[in-house]
Amino acid sequence: MKIFVLNAGSSSLKYQLIDPLTKDILAVGICERIGIDGSFLSHKTRDKQIKIEQAFPTHKDAIDLVLKSLTSGEAKVIDSVNEIDAIGHRVVHGGEYFDKSVLVNDKVIEQIEELLPLAPLHNPANLMGIKVVQELMPGKPNVAVFDTAFHQTMPPKTFLYATPYEDYEDFKLRKYGFHGTSHYYVSNEAIKMLGNKKESKVIVCHLGNGSSICAVKNGKSIDTSMGLTPLEGLVMGTRSGDIDPAAIEYLMQKKGFDIGEAINYLNKKSGLLGVSGVSSDLREILEASDAGNKRAKDAIDLVSTRLKKYICAYAGVLGGVDAICFTAGIGENANIIREKTCEELEFLGVEFCKNKNDKRSSEAREISSSKSKTKVFVIPTNEEFVIAHDTYNLIK
Ligand code: ADP
Repeated sequence: MKIFVLNAGSSSLKYQLIDPLTKDILAVGICERIGIDGSFLSHKTRDKQIKIEQAFPTHKDAIDLVLKSLTSGEAKVIDSVNEIDAIGHRVVHGGEYFDKSVLVNDKVIEQIEELLPLAPLHNPANLMGIKVVQELMPGKPNVAVFDTAFHQTMPPKTFLYATPYEDYEDFKLRKYGFHGTSHYYVSNEAIKMLGNKKESKVIVCHLGNGSSICAVKNGKSIDTSMGLTPLEGLVMGTRSGDIDPAAIEYLMQKKGFDIGEAINYLNKKSGLLGVSGVSSDLREILEASDAGNKRAKDAIDLVSTRLKKYICAYAGVLGGVDAICFTAGIGENANIIREKTCEELEFLGVEFCKNKNDKRSSEAREISSSKSKTKVFVIPTNEEFVIAHDTYNLIK
């Protein structure tokens, strides 16, 4: 069984060829700078790694090159695309239409098209990926896996914004949440690490370039920090996260922005990048902070404190917490962020273990003491595996 997992962005395209039954990754790669000068493909198999510098003006050219790299040349892993059983696509926004993954048909494409205004930066590229694959691999089943689907179990008391109710009824203005595939995978792994506890209360902190936190009760999302768009919530690489909405008007006056420029500023120039003035990459900020850069230190403190506030809020929403989980680039690697976030959480039953936290590992592990009432776990996320697995389940 071979599933081609595709995550098509506006100028990049990530892919994996996975056996969902063995979790075996046959190939993994990325096409960068689609439609821009200097485009290239990085393609990795178990024992080979290649980089092809070639112009690919469109997503179709990029996917074509990926399929060629999978089936020919020194890093080929299959003889023909016929060996691919199905394609699993990451789609960012499923709105209220999709609470689980679906086989793609004309109706699904229409519904994803209808949702374009809710995710103008992401859904068009995701949809393009689906359409190109349908053209290049006719007859193969395509499955759409939505970032929002896992959060469709949120109740009105957490998904509603407190504007007039007609805004929800007429315009579907509400919190949707994102990173659902990751929150689902990590919370599920955490429940296993809790010994398949029947009634479980888990908080997942997905901390990457984009970050969000999710409260998961008995395996279901009941609250999450991203909202109508991914801008709400935690402090991220370049996004501000939560901000007083009236501060936007103030910024517009002071900086002479129109509303589009102001939102772009909060999405692209803020967060770790804006506060530190160093980078959006936490590794560079940690280095600058170690060298005495005050803004870098403030950025680190701001990220950890915002996260701590959300953890405490979600413990309240859940009515307790069995496990707090860290995942994604920062969550899996940045021990200092985990330590600062968990400082003084003893009142929540957390007995943090600095020694365990400081040990590097790529395995899922506990970083609280064995006596800790509330467990703290580091669990590497695996969104591609969930996409491959959902795809397999829908085609079998
Ligand atoms: P994306 O949201 O793009 O998938 P990732 O999950 O790869 O992002 O996370 C990227 C973030 O993880 C960056 O801020 C990066 O600095 C951080 N990161 C990766 N490795 C480390 C590390 N060893 N120590 C600290 N931060 C790290």
